[in-house]
Amino acid sequence: MIDAVVVGGGPIGLAAALYLDRLGLQVMVLEQRAAPIDKACGEGLMPAAVAALNDLGVRPAGRDFAGIRYLDGRRSVAAHFTGPAGRGVRRTELQSALHSAVLQRQIPIELCRVDAVAQNADSVLVGGVRARYLVAADGLHSPIREQLGMRRAPRRRARWGLRLHYSVAPWSDLVEVHWNDTTEAYVTPTGPGEVGVAVLSSLRVPFEQHLAGFPQLRERLQASPSGAVRGAGPLRQRVRRRVAGRVALVGDAAGYVDALTGEGLSTGLACARRLADCLARDRPEDYERLWRQATRRHRLLTEALLLASGNRTSRRLIVPGAARLPRAFAAVVNQLAG
Ligand SMILES: Cc1cc2nc3c(=O)[nH]c(=O)nc-3n(C[C@H](O)[C@H](O)[C@H](O)COP(=O)(O)OP(=O)(O)OC[C@H]3O[C@@H](n4cnc5c(N)ncnc54)[C@H](O)[C@@H]3O)c2cc1C
Repeated sequence: MIDAVVVGGGPIGLAAALYLDRLGLQVMVLEQRAAPIDKACGEGLMPAAVAALNDLGVRPAGRDFAGIRYLDGRRSVAAHFTGPAGRGVRRTELQSALHSAVLQRQIPIELCRVDAVAQNADSVLVGGVRARYLVAADGLHSPIREQLGMRRAPRRRARWGLRLHYSVAPWSDLVEVHWNDTTEAYVTPTGPGEVGVAVLSSLRVPFEQHLAGFPQLRERLQASPSGAVRGAGPLRQRVRRRVAGRVALVGDAAGYVDALTGEGLSTGLACARRLADCLARDRPEDYERLWRQATRRHRLLTEALLLASGNRTSRRLIVPGAARLPRAFAAVVNQLAG
């Protein structure tokens, strides 16, 4: 029997495996897709995520960004990070860098789709592997969370995300968030000749149709898109609890509010580290409290912005309001960065 099996070889599952290994636990990863794994993501690593990856010895190639700019076609406001930069990193690059780090540590990664999970007082059995603990990092729609009855019913209007890359030189060293009445479009520099564009909305229309609602941005993206559109959603995932016996949820599987504030990877990495500490101390019961602590600030800020953006009148005040109060905007951006 090994100490921990991680289901899900996305960035958070791989990081959890590295944290567990660093604490001396014997760990393996089960993932259903072959590397490098792509996924719809804004691909902006907030400074805290860059620092956490550095700490794990993982330095994915990308393009640094110095802060966030909000624009609504008439006004714009920029907030620079007061500390280190964030980094725009192609999703496949991020997953490959973590995948290589895991293999370098000789942590086994098995290509396998997990279905049934069984547990008793001492161990968990999953995908033919018996372990003392199971870390479920199986993403937004976590089948393990579903199987163990840890999901809560959604309450609010659902939102979805779509992402596409463009072969165009980044025109800014900031991540731009373009707002219109229904949708946000994020532009993240991911390399010297490439930007990623992610749109978030409750409208389910094709990417091109979303982009038509941002004429200034579309003008900049005359170059042909590279690759295909990827989508994800519904984004909000409510979760009853993060621990069920010897199984613990981490990353998007543990619950998700929205991609609006772009900190999914940094909070996921912070929680993976805390979960590894709990399992190394044989105290899985401590994780729920630590998860709540680590995610509270981001959950509150994202919920507040979502609430404001859900009503057309208050939504139209977001960019003008931030432009009138640039220091308050910068303070919020720096709260999200850390
Ligand atoms: C449109 C959009 C934009 C975003 N923008 C940003 C951003 O700019 N910055 C940021 O920090 N975050 C952003 N996020 C959030 C970020 O993408 C997620 O928080 C992050 O991907 C979570 O990683 P994860 O490892 O938890 O899940 P995932 O990356 O989804 O990995 C889960 C893995 O589990 C595997 N799996 C699932 N089921 C099984 C099974 N039964 N058996 C075996 N394997 C299984 C899957 O194949 C997958 O590889 C964005 C999200 C969206 C949707």
